Amino acid sequence: MQFAEGLSDRDAADAVRTRIDWKYLLGLELSDPGFNYSILSRFRARLVENNAEMSLLQGLLERWHDLGLVRERSDMRTDSTHIIASIRDMNRLELVGETLRATLNVLATVDPAWLCTHVESDWYLRYAKRFERGRLPESKEGKTAGADQIGRDGMFLMEAIWDPGAPAYLRSLPAVETLRRCWVSQFWTDQGVIHWRLAGNLPPSPARIDSPYDLDARYGAKGTTEWVGYKVHFTETCSPGMPNLITNVDTTAAHQPDIAHVISGQDELAKRQLLPKRQLVDGSYVGSHITLASLRKHGVELVGPVKQNWHRSHIGSGYDLNAFTIDWEGRVATCPQGKQSTGWWTNTTSTGHVVISTKFSRPDCARCTVNTVCTKNGAKNPRKLTFRPREEHESLIASRAEQRTPAWKELYNRRAGIEATFSQGVRAFGLRRTRYRGLPRCHLQNIAVAARSISNGSATIGAVSFQPQHAPPPLRSSDDTSCDISPTVSPTE
Ligand code: SF4
Repeated sequence: MQFAEGLSDRDAADAVRTRIDWKYLLGLELSDPGFNYSILSRFRARLVENNAEMSLLQGLLERWHDLGLVRERSDMRTDSTHIIASIRDMNRLELVGETLRATLNVLATVDPAWLCTHVESDWYLRYAKRFERGRLPESKEGKTAGADQIGRDGMFLMEAIWDPGAPAYLRSLPAVETLRRCWVSQFWTDQGVIHWRLAGNLPPSPARIDSPYDLDARYGAKGTTEWVGYKVHFTETCSPGMPNLITNVDTTAAHQPDIAHVISGQDELAKRQLLPKRQLVDGSYVGSHITLASLRKHGVELVGPVKQNWHRSHIGSGYDLNAFTIDWEGRVATCPQGKQSTGWWTNTTSTGHVVISTKFSRPDCARCTVNTVCTKNGAKNPRKLTFRPREEHESLIASRAEQRTPAWKELYNRRAGIEATFSQGVRAFGLRRTRYRGLPRCHLQNIAVAARSISNGSATIGAVSFQPQHAPPPLRSSDDTSCDISPTVSPTE
Protein backbone atom coordinates (compact mmCIF):
# COMPACT_ATOMS: atom_id res chain seq x y z
CA MET A 1 0.00 0.00 0.00
CA GLN A 2 2.93 2.29 0.74
CA PHE A 3 4.37 1.67 -2.72
CA ALA A 4 0.96 1.85 -4.38
CA GLU A 5 0.70 5.44 -3.22
CA GLY A 6 4.42 6.27 -3.38
CA LEU A 7 4.60 7.31 0.29
CA SER A 8 7.63 7.76 2.51
CA ASP A 9 7.82 5.71 5.73
CA ARG A 10 6.60 8.67 7.81
CA ASP A 11 3.68 9.34 5.46
CA ALA A 12 2.73 5.64 5.38
CA ALA A 13 2.71 5.48 9.20
CA ASP A 14 0.60 8.65 9.25
CA ALA A 15 -1.81 7.07 6.75
CA VAL A 16 -2.26 4.01 9.00
CA ARG A 17 -3.03 6.28 11.94
CA THR A 18 -5.25 8.86 10.21
CA ARG A 19 -6.87 7.43 7.07
CA ILE A 20 -10.11 5.53 7.26
CA ASP A 21 -9.55 3.69 3.95
CA TRP A 22 -6.20 2.30 5.18
CA LYS A 23 -7.74 1.24 8.51
CA TYR A 24 -10.52 -0.51 6.59
CA LEU A 25 -8.08 -2.37 4.32
CA LEU A 26 -5.85 -3.36 7.25
CA GLY A 27 -8.83 -4.42 9.39
CA LEU A 28 -7.94 -1.96 12.17
CA GLU A 29 -10.26 -0.30 14.65
CA LEU A 30 -10.88 3.40 14.01
CA SER A 31 -9.20 4.16 17.32
CA ASP A 32 -6.05 2.18 16.45
CA PRO A 33 -3.01 4.42 17.14
CA GLY A 34 -0.86 2.85 14.37
CA PHE A 35 2.87 2.45 14.82
CA ASN A 36 6.13 4.35 14.65
CA TYR A 37 7.40 4.79 11.08
CA SER A 38 10.72 3.05 11.91
CA ILE A 39 8.78 -0.24 12.13
CA LEU A 40 8.53 -0.22 8.33
CA SER A 41 12.30 -0.37 7.94
CA ARG A 42 12.43 -3.40 10.24
CA PHE A 43 9.52 -4.96 8.36
CA ARG A 44 11.44 -4.64 5.09
CA ALA A 45 14.51 -6.17 6.74
CA ARG A 46 12.39 -9.17 7.80
CA LEU A 47 10.98 -9.53 4.28
CA VAL A 48 14.48 -9.54 2.81
CA GLU A 49 16.00 -11.84 5.48
CA ASN A 50 13.30 -14.45 4.90
CA ASN A 51 13.34 -14.13 1.09
CA ALA A 52 9.67 -13.19 1.24
CA GLU A 53 9.90 -10.15 -1.02
CA MET A 54 8.65 -12.09 -4.05
CA SER A 55 5.35 -12.71 -2.25
CA LEU A 56 4.40 -9.16 -3.31
CA LEU A 57 4.26 -10.41 -6.90
CA GLN A 58 3.55 -14.09 -6.28
CA GLY A 59 -0.04 -13.53 -5.13
CA LEU A 60 -0.82 -11.61 -8.31
CA LEU A 61 0.86 -14.26 -10.47
CA GLU A 62 -1.20 -17.07 -8.92
CA ARG A 63 -4.40 -15.10 -9.43
CA TRP A 64 -3.57 -14.40 -13.08
CA HIS A 65 -2.65 -18.03 -13.57
CA ASP A 66 -6.07 -19.09 -12.25
CA LEU A 67 -7.71 -16.60 -14.62
CA GLY A 68 -5.71 -17.91 -17.57
CA LEU A 69 -3.92 -14.61 -18.08
CA VAL A 70 -0.44 -16.14 -17.70
CA ARG A 71 0.47 -19.66 -18.62
CA GLU A 72 3.54 -21.79 -19.04
CA ARG A 73 5.15 -22.08 -22.45
CA SER A 74 3.76 -18.83 -23.83
CA ASP A 75 5.94 -16.11 -25.39
CA MET A 76 7.82 -13.79 -23.02
CA ARG A 77 10.28 -10.95 -23.40
CA THR A 78 13.12 -9.81 -21.15
CA ASP A 79 15.11 -6.60 -20.90
CA SER A 80 17.06 -4.66 -18.30
CA THR A 81 17.46 -1.06 -17.22
CA HIS A 82 19.84 0.72 -14.89
CA ILE A 83 19.05 1.68 -11.30
CA ILE A 84 20.95 4.55 -9.71
CA ALA A 85 22.02 3.88 -6.12
CA SER A 86 20.84 6.06 -3.26
CA ILE A 87 24.27 7.58 -2.77
CA ARG A 88 26.10 10.67 -3.86
CA ASP A 89 28.25 10.35 -6.97
CA MET A 90 31.85 10.63 -5.80
CA ASN A 91 35.15 10.98 -7.56
CA ARG A 92 38.02 8.79 -6.35
CA LEU A 93 39.51 11.41 -4.05
CA GLU A 94 36.14 11.96 -2.37
CA LEU A 95 35.69 8.19 -2.14
CA VAL A 96 38.88 7.52 -0.17
CA GLY A 97 38.36 10.60 2.03
CA GLU A 98 34.73 9.75 2.73
CA THR A 99 35.58 6.10 3.46
CA LEU A 100 38.16 7.14 6.07
CA ARG A 101 35.75 9.72 7.51
CA ALA A 102 32.97 7.11 7.79
CA THR A 103 35.35 4.71 9.60
CA LEU A 104 36.45 7.45 12.02
CA ASN A 105 32.81 8.27 12.75
CA VAL A 106 32.10 4.62 13.62
CA LEU A 107 35.22 4.38 15.84
CA ALA A 108 34.27 7.66 17.55
CA THR A 109 30.92 6.08 18.43
CA VAL A 110 32.15 2.60 19.37
CA ASP A 111 35.34 3.47 21.29
CA PRO A 112 35.96 7.23 21.52
CA ALA A 113 38.65 6.83 24.21
CA TRP A 114 40.74 4.52 22.00
CA LEU A 115 40.35 6.84 19.00
CA CYS A 116 41.42 9.96 20.96
CA THR A 117 44.65 8.31 22.03
CA HIS A 118 45.54 6.99 18.57
CA VAL A 119 44.94 9.85 16.14
CA GLU A 120 46.42 13.33 15.98
CA SER A 121 44.25 16.33 16.83
CA ASP A 122 44.69 17.82 13.32
CA TRP A 123 42.71 14.86 11.93
CA TYR A 124 39.61 16.57 13.27
CA LEU A 125 40.17 19.52 10.93
CA ARG A 126 40.85 17.17 8.03
CA TYR A 127 37.98 14.70 8.47
CA ALA A 128 35.24 16.49 10.43
CA LYS A 129 33.39 17.76 7.34
CA ARG A 130 32.03 15.74 4.44
CA PHE A 131 34.47 15.88 1.57
CA GLU A 132 32.06 17.31 -0.97
CA ARG A 133 31.62 20.36 1.29
CA GLY A 134 35.27 21.36 1.16
CA ARG A 135 37.35 22.58 -1.76
CA LEU A 136 39.21 19.77 -3.46
CA PRO A 137 42.51 20.43 -5.27
CA GLU A 138 42.06 21.02 -9.00
CA SER A 139 45.50 20.14 -10.32
CA LYS A 140 46.50 16.54 -10.93
CA GLU A 141 49.50 16.89 -8.58
CA GLY A 142 47.29 18.40 -5.86
CA LYS A 143 44.80 15.54 -6.15
CA THR A 144 47.57 12.92 -5.98
CA ALA A 145 49.16 14.62 -2.96
CA GLY A 146 45.77 14.85 -1.22
CA ALA A 147 45.02 11.20 -1.92
CA ASP A 148 48.48 10.11 -0.70
CA GLN A 149 47.92 12.03 2.56
CA ILE A 150 44.55 10.28 3.07
CA GLY A 151 46.20 6.97 2.15
CA ARG A 152 48.92 7.45 4.79
CA ASP A 153 46.32 8.38 7.43
CA GLY A 154 44.20 5.34 6.59
CA MET A 155 47.27 3.08 6.72
CA PHE A 156 48.28 4.57 10.08
CA LEU A 157 44.78 3.90 11.44
CA MET A 158 44.72 0.31 10.19
CA GLU A 159 48.17 -0.42 11.66
CA ALA A 160 46.90 0.91 15.01
CA ILE A 161 43.76 -1.26 14.78
CA TRP A 162 45.76 -4.37 13.88
CA ASP A 163 48.29 -3.74 16.66
CA PRO A 164 48.22 -6.69 19.14
CA GLY A 165 47.45 -4.25 21.95
CA ALA A 166 44.30 -2.86 20.28
CA PRO A 167 40.89 -4.29 21.26
CA ALA A 168 40.09 -7.24 19.01
CA TYR A 169 36.50 -6.14 18.34
CA LEU A 170 37.78 -3.10 16.41
CA ARG A 171 39.06 -5.43 13.69
CA SER A 172 35.61 -6.99 13.27
CA LEU A 173 33.79 -3.70 12.65
CA PRO A 174 32.21 -3.62 9.16
CA ALA A 175 33.45 -0.04 8.66
CA VAL A 176 37.05 -1.15 9.29
CA GLU A 177 36.66 -3.97 6.76
CA THR A 178 35.25 -1.44 4.27
CA LEU A 179 38.30 0.78 4.85
CA ARG A 180 40.63 -2.18 4.25
CA ARG A 181 38.85 -3.17 1.01
CA CYS A 182 38.87 0.40 -0.24
CA TRP A 183 42.58 0.81 0.49
CA VAL A 184 43.45 -2.46 -1.29
CA SER A 185 41.66 -1.27 -4.43
CA GLN A 186 42.75 2.39 -4.38
CA PHE A 187 46.39 2.28 -3.11
CA TRP A 188 49.51 0.24 -3.50
CA THR A 189 52.67 0.20 -1.40
CA ASP A 190 56.29 0.18 -2.48
CA GLN A 191 58.88 -0.45 0.27
CA GLY A 192 56.48 0.79 2.92
CA VAL A 193 55.49 3.94 0.99
CA ILE A 194 51.83 4.18 0.04
CA HIS A 195 50.83 5.43 -3.44
CA TRP A 196 47.48 6.25 -5.02
CA ARG A 197 46.70 3.96 -7.94
CA LEU A 198 46.58 5.60 -11.35
CA ALA A 199 43.42 5.16 -13.43
CA GLY A 200 44.87 2.30 -15.52
CA ASN A 201 46.01 0.39 -12.42
CA LEU A 202 42.64 -0.10 -10.75
CA PRO A 203 41.12 -3.53 -10.11
CA PRO A 204 37.95 -4.42 -12.08
CA SER A 205 34.56 -3.13 -10.94
CA PRO A 206 33.51 -6.28 -8.96
CA ALA A 207 36.61 -5.94 -6.74
CA ARG A 208 36.08 -2.24 -5.97
CA ILE A 209 33.68 -0.35 -3.77
CA ASP A 210 32.15 2.87 -5.09
CA SER A 211 30.79 4.25 -1.83
CA PRO A 212 31.32 3.41 1.86
CA TYR A 213 27.57 3.88 2.34
CA ASP A 214 26.35 1.27 -0.15
CA LEU A 215 28.77 -1.62 -0.56
CA ASP A 216 26.65 -3.43 -3.18
CA ALA A 217 26.48 -0.47 -5.58
CA ARG A 218 28.86 -0.85 -8.49
CA TYR A 219 29.96 1.14 -11.50
CA GLY A 220 28.21 -0.03 -14.66
CA ALA A 221 28.22 1.01 -18.30
CA LYS A 222 25.94 0.07 -21.19
CA GLY A 223 26.30 1.88 -24.48
CA THR A 224 26.74 5.55 -23.63
CA THR A 225 25.11 5.22 -20.19
CA GLU A 226 27.35 5.10 -17.11
CA TRP A 227 26.04 4.85 -13.57
CA VAL A 228 26.77 3.58 -10.04
CA GLY A 229 24.14 1.25 -8.67
CA TYR A 230 22.28 -1.79 -9.92
CA LYS A 231 20.51 -3.31 -12.89
CA VAL A 232 17.00 -4.76 -12.98
CA HIS A 233 15.72 -7.36 -15.45
CA PHE A 234 11.98 -7.61 -16.11
CA THR A 235 10.41 -10.57 -17.91
CA GLU A 236 6.83 -10.17 -19.13
CA THR A 237 4.37 -12.10 -21.27
CA CYS A 238 3.98 -11.01 -24.88
CA SER A 239 1.73 -13.54 -26.59
CA PRO A 240 -0.61 -12.02 -29.20
CA GLY A 241 -4.08 -11.22 -27.88
CA MET A 242 -3.01 -11.48 -24.23
CA PRO A 243 -2.12 -8.75 -21.72
CA ASN A 244 1.54 -8.11 -20.96
CA LEU A 245 2.14 -9.17 -17.34
CA ILE A 246 5.48 -9.10 -15.52
CA THR A 247 6.39 -12.63 -14.46
CA ASN A 248 9.90 -12.18 -13.09
CA VAL A 249 12.04 -9.44 -11.57
CA ASP A 250 15.76 -9.94 -11.07
CA THR A 251 18.13 -7.35 -9.61
CA THR A 252 21.88 -7.62 -10.11
CA ALA A 253 24.95 -5.49 -9.55
CA ALA A 254 25.46 -2.89 -12.29
CA HIS A 255 28.56 -4.52 -13.75
CA GLN A 256 27.00 -7.94 -14.36
CA PRO A 257 26.43 -8.61 -18.07
CA ASP A 258 22.87 -9.24 -19.24
CA ILE A 259 23.83 -12.65 -20.60
CA ALA A 260 24.60 -13.85 -17.04
CA HIS A 261 20.94 -13.35 -16.13
CA VAL A 262 19.43 -15.68 -18.77
CA ILE A 263 19.72 -19.04 -17.00
CA SER A 264 19.19 -17.70 -13.46
CA GLY A 265 16.06 -15.86 -14.66
CA GLN A 266 14.73 -19.03 -16.29
CA ASP A 267 15.46 -20.99 -13.09
CA GLU A 268 13.19 -18.56 -11.21
CA LEU A 269 10.44 -18.92 -13.81
CA ALA A 270 10.76 -22.72 -13.66
CA LYS A 271 10.17 -22.63 -9.88
CA ARG A 272 6.88 -20.83 -10.54
CA GLN A 273 5.99 -23.10 -13.48
CA LEU A 274 6.02 -20.11 -15.80
CA LEU A 275 8.77 -21.03 -18.24
CA PRO A 276 8.24 -19.49 -21.67
CA LYS A 277 8.34 -21.36 -24.98
CA ARG A 278 10.15 -18.48 -26.65
CA GLN A 279 12.00 -15.68 -24.85
CA LEU A 280 12.54 -12.47 -26.82
CA VAL A 281 15.67 -10.57 -25.80
CA ASP A 282 18.05 -7.99 -27.22
CA GLY A 283 21.57 -8.69 -28.46
CA SER A 284 23.19 -8.35 -25.01
CA TYR A 285 21.43 -11.54 -23.81
CA VAL A 286 22.32 -13.84 -26.70
CA GLY A 287 25.33 -15.89 -27.73
CA SER A 288 25.65 -19.32 -29.25
CA HIS A 289 26.60 -20.96 -25.92
CA ILE A 290 23.71 -19.39 -23.96
CA THR A 291 21.18 -20.19 -26.71
CA LEU A 292 22.15 -23.86 -26.50
CA ALA A 293 22.26 -23.83 -22.67
CA SER A 294 18.74 -22.34 -22.56
CA LEU A 295 17.40 -25.03 -24.90
CA ARG A 296 19.15 -27.86 -23.08
CA LYS A 297 18.28 -26.86 -19.52
CA HIS A 298 14.76 -25.45 -19.83
CA GLY A 299 13.69 -26.07 -23.43
CA VAL A 300 13.37 -22.29 -23.96
CA GLU A 301 14.10 -20.89 -27.41
CA LEU A 302 16.07 -17.68 -26.99
CA VAL A 303 15.10 -15.23 -29.74
CA GLY A 304 17.51 -12.34 -30.19
CA PRO A 305 19.89 -10.88 -32.75
CA VAL A 306 23.23 -12.70 -32.70
CA LYS A 307 26.30 -10.76 -33.77
CA GLN A 308 26.82 -10.68 -37.50
CA ASN A 309 30.07 -11.77 -39.06
CA TRP A 310 31.75 -8.43 -39.74
CA HIS A 311 34.10 -9.72 -42.40
CA ARG A 312 34.59 -7.73 -45.60
CA SER A 313 32.15 -10.04 -47.36
CA HIS A 314 29.42 -7.78 -45.95
CA ILE A 315 30.62 -4.92 -48.10
CA GLY A 316 30.66 -7.02 -51.23
CA SER A 317 34.17 -8.48 -51.33
CA GLY A 318 36.00 -11.29 -49.58
CA TYR A 319 35.01 -14.60 -48.00
CA ASP A 320 33.40 -14.83 -44.59
CA LEU A 321 33.33 -17.96 -42.43
CA ASN A 322 30.32 -19.35 -44.29
CA ALA A 323 32.43 -19.63 -47.46
CA PHE A 324 34.73 -22.21 -45.82
CA THR A 325 33.88 -25.90 -45.41
CA ILE A 326 34.78 -27.34 -42.03
CA ASP A 327 35.53 -31.04 -41.64
CA TRP A 328 34.98 -31.47 -37.89
CA GLU A 329 36.14 -35.11 -37.75
CA GLY A 330 39.20 -34.48 -39.92
CA ARG A 331 39.92 -31.18 -38.05
CA VAL A 332 40.58 -29.31 -41.27
CA ALA A 333 38.93 -26.40 -43.13
CA THR A 334 38.73 -26.03 -46.92
CA CYS A 335 38.73 -22.59 -48.51
CA PRO A 336 36.70 -21.56 -51.61
CA GLN A 337 39.83 -22.07 -53.72
CA GLY A 338 40.06 -25.70 -52.56
CA LYS A 339 43.09 -25.27 -50.26
CA GLN A 340 43.13 -27.01 -46.87
CA SER A 341 44.14 -25.48 -43.54
CA THR A 342 47.31 -26.68 -41.87
CA GLY A 343 46.62 -26.47 -38.15
CA TRP A 344 43.82 -26.91 -35.60
CA TRP A 345 44.05 -25.42 -32.10
CA THR A 346 41.51 -25.38 -29.29
CA ASN A 347 41.80 -22.47 -26.83
CA THR A 348 39.82 -20.98 -23.97
CA THR A 349 39.18 -17.23 -24.05
CA SER A 350 39.49 -14.92 -21.04
CA THR A 351 35.68 -15.12 -20.70
CA GLY A 352 35.83 -18.91 -20.44
CA HIS A 353 34.55 -19.78 -23.92
CA VAL A 354 36.15 -22.48 -26.03
CA VAL A 355 37.23 -21.36 -29.50
CA ILE A 356 38.93 -23.24 -32.34
CA SER A 357 41.55 -21.65 -34.59
CA THR A 358 42.99 -22.84 -37.86
CA LYS A 359 45.10 -21.23 -40.59
CA PHE A 360 46.09 -21.78 -44.20
CA SER A 361 49.64 -22.20 -45.42
CA ARG A 362 51.61 -19.10 -46.37
CA PRO A 363 52.70 -20.44 -49.83
CA ASP A 364 49.07 -21.35 -50.71
CA CYS A 365 47.77 -17.87 -49.83
CA ALA A 366 50.76 -16.09 -51.41
CA ARG A 367 50.10 -17.80 -54.77
CA CYS A 368 46.33 -17.41 -54.56
CA THR A 369 44.76 -15.08 -57.15
CA VAL A 370 42.11 -13.80 -54.71
CA ASN A 371 44.34 -13.26 -51.67
CA THR A 372 43.81 -9.48 -51.75
CA VAL A 373 40.13 -9.91 -50.87
CA CYS A 374 40.48 -13.00 -48.65
CA THR A 375 43.34 -11.96 -46.37
CA LYS A 376 44.10 -8.70 -44.58
CA ASN A 377 47.50 -8.08 -46.13
CA GLY A 378 47.26 -9.87 -49.41
CA ALA A 379 50.20 -12.23 -49.76
CA LYS A 380 51.94 -11.26 -46.49
CA ASN A 381 49.73 -13.06 -43.97
CA PRO A 382 47.89 -16.32 -44.63
CA ARG A 383 44.17 -16.51 -43.82
CA LYS A 384 43.22 -17.52 -40.28
CA LEU A 385 39.83 -18.70 -39.07
CA THR A 386 38.47 -18.67 -35.51
CA PHE A 387 35.14 -20.30 -34.67
CA ARG A 388 33.20 -21.99 -31.87
CA PRO A 389 32.94 -25.78 -31.34
CA ARG A 390 30.70 -27.60 -33.81
CA GLU A 391 27.32 -27.42 -32.04
CA GLU A 392 27.72 -23.73 -31.17
CA HIS A 393 29.06 -22.89 -34.63
CA GLU A 394 26.15 -24.56 -36.41
CA SER A 395 23.66 -22.89 -34.05
CA LEU A 396 25.25 -19.50 -34.76
CA ILE A 397 25.13 -19.99 -38.53
CA ALA A 398 21.47 -21.08 -38.34
CA SER A 399 20.57 -18.08 -36.14
CA ARG A 400 22.28 -15.63 -38.50
CA ALA A 401 20.36 -17.05 -41.44
CA GLU A 402 17.05 -17.10 -39.57
CA GLN A 403 17.24 -13.52 -38.37
CA ARG A 404 17.27 -12.26 -41.94
CA THR A 405 13.81 -13.76 -42.63
CA PRO A 406 10.61 -11.61 -42.47
CA ALA A 407 8.95 -14.11 -40.08
CA TRP A 408 11.78 -13.71 -37.54
CA LYS A 409 11.67 -9.91 -37.84
CA GLU A 410 7.91 -9.88 -37.29
CA LEU A 411 8.29 -12.05 -34.19
CA TYR A 412 11.19 -9.99 -32.84
CA ASN A 413 9.19 -6.75 -33.22
CA ARG A 414 7.22 -7.84 -30.15
CA ARG A 415 10.30 -7.42 -27.93
CA ALA A 416 10.23 -3.64 -28.22
CA GLY A 417 7.04 -3.41 -26.16
CA ILE A 418 8.96 -3.97 -22.92
CA GLU A 419 10.51 -0.52 -23.30
CA ALA A 420 7.06 0.92 -22.53
CA THR A 421 6.92 -1.07 -19.28
CA PHE A 422 10.29 0.36 -18.23
CA SER A 423 9.22 3.81 -19.30
CA GLN A 424 6.16 3.65 -17.07
CA GLY A 425 8.23 2.22 -14.19
CA VAL A 426 10.73 5.05 -14.48
CA ARG A 427 8.32 7.93 -15.07
CA ALA A 428 5.40 6.94 -12.87
CA PHE A 429 6.81 4.69 -10.15
CA GLY A 430 10.38 5.87 -9.49
CA LEU A 431 12.14 2.80 -10.86
CA ARG A 432 15.26 4.67 -11.98
CA ARG A 433 16.57 5.57 -8.51
CA THR A 434 16.45 3.19 -5.55
CA ARG A 435 15.18 4.48 -2.21
CA TYR A 436 17.22 1.96 -0.25
CA ARG A 437 20.83 0.91 0.18
CA GLY A 438 22.02 -2.60 -0.57
CA LEU A 439 21.04 -4.99 -3.33
CA PRO A 440 18.40 -7.00 -1.38
CA ARG A 441 16.38 -3.89 -0.52
CA CYS A 442 16.79 -2.47 -4.02
CA HIS A 443 15.36 -5.79 -5.26
CA LEU A 444 12.41 -5.41 -2.88
CA GLN A 445 11.68 -1.97 -4.32
CA ASN A 446 11.89 -3.29 -7.88
CA ILE A 447 9.39 -6.05 -7.08
CA ALA A 448 7.07 -3.48 -5.51
CA VAL A 449 7.36 -1.30 -8.62
CA ALA A 450 6.56 -4.31 -10.83
CA ALA A 451 3.55 -5.26 -8.69
CA ARG A 452 2.36 -1.65 -8.72
CA SER A 453 2.92 -1.34 -12.45
CA ILE A 454 0.81 -4.37 -13.30
CA SER A 455 -1.83 -3.69 -10.65
CA ASN A 456 -2.19 -0.30 -12.23
CA GLY A 457 -2.93 -2.11 -15.48
CA SER A 458 -2.03 0.58 -17.94
CA ALA A 459 1.43 -0.87 -18.53
CA THR A 460 0.11 -4.20 -19.52
CA ILE A 461 -3.00 -3.87 -21.57
CA GLY A 462 -1.93 -1.10 -23.93
CA ALA A 463 -3.27 -1.54 -27.44
CA VAL A 464 -3.78 -5.28 -27.03
CA SER A 465 -7.27 -6.51 -27.85
CA PHE A 466 -7.77 -8.75 -24.82
CA GLN A 467 -10.53 -11.34 -24.53
CA PRO A 468 -10.68 -12.71 -20.96
CA GLN A 469 -11.35 -16.43 -20.59
CA HIS A 470 -14.03 -15.84 -18.00
CA ALA A 471 -16.08 -12.97 -19.35
CA PRO A 472 -18.28 -11.20 -16.79
CA PRO A 473 -22.01 -12.08 -17.05
CA PRO A 474 -24.09 -9.68 -19.17
CA LEU A 475 -25.96 -7.05 -17.21
CA ARG A 476 -29.13 -7.79 -19.13
CA SER A 477 -30.42 -10.31 -21.60
CA SER A 478 -29.50 -9.77 -25.23
CA ASP A 479 -33.13 -9.65 -26.37
CA ASP A 480 -33.99 -6.86 -23.96
CA THR A 481 -34.07 -3.78 -26.16
CA SER A 482 -36.64 -1.86 -24.18
CA CYS A 483 -34.20 0.66 -22.85
CA ASP A 484 -30.69 1.62 -23.95
CA ILE A 485 -29.46 3.41 -20.88
CA SER A 486 -31.13 2.01 -17.77
CA PRO A 487 -29.05 -0.66 -16.01
CA THR A 488 -30.82 -3.83 -14.94
CA VAL A 489 -28.88 -3.84 -11.66
CA SER A 490 -28.91 -0.98 -9.25
CA PRO A 491 -25.67 0.98 -8.66
CA THR A 492 -25.47 -0.38 -5.12
CA GLU A 493 -25.49 -3.95 -6.39
S1 SF4 B 1 43.86 -16.49 -49.76
FE1 SF4 B 1 44.36 -18.51 -48.93
S2 SF4 B 1 42.53 -19.08 -47.78
FE2 SF4 B 1 41.96 -17.37 -49.08
S3 SF4 B 1 41.04 -18.32 -50.87
FE3 SF4 B 1 43.23 -17.98 -51.33
S4 SF4 B 1 44.24 -19.86 -50.71
FE4 SF4 B 1 42.22 -19.91 -49.82
